[in-house]
Amino acid sequence: MFPMPSRNAPWPIKHRIESRIQRRADGCWVWMGTKSDKGYGRLRVGGKRTGRWHRVHRRMYEEYVGPIPDGLQVCHRCDNPPCVNPEHLFLGTPADNMADKMLKGRASTLSKRAYAHDIRKQVGEVVARLAQKYGVSESTVRRIASGKSWDEPVAHIPTPGSTV
Ligand SMILES: [Zn+2]
Repeated sequence: MFPMPSRNAPWPIKHRIESRIQRRADGCWVWMGTKSDKGYGRLRVGGKRTGRWHRVHRRMYEEYVGPIPDGLQVCHRCDNPPCVNPEHLFLGTPADNMADKMLKGRASTLSKRAYAHDIRKQVGEVVARLAQKYGVSESTVRRIASGKSWDEPVAHIPTPGSTV
């Protein structure tokens, strides 16, 4: 699909990058080549001795969007460091980047709390159903379930194996 590299005309960097990405269904273009410790794509441009390592997402931003002003970072909307899709990249100051990460971190804490709330609610529903089935209080069900009690009086004995 892309022209092959030749000695006379260096293979454009854009094509070098695009030959090593995997376009995922979620829209991320995942870099399949070398990565830094933090998971960002790295690409050496130039010869083995004289070449310099470039961060692929920064190069992609420059290729597709434009120059990166001094002091600004290229951040990921998708929070996926190896992603180099220019549409997922935006410019920010280091402080913006930090604030963005903190905001996303807080968002994930909030969603964890939402799950925990949901789980507790469902446990509560099951406890209420069991209490009704066996004719005991909800606290009795909780004590029995946690192994703290086993000899609480039960109001009526349901048929073993009947569904709750
Ligand atoms: Zn992405």
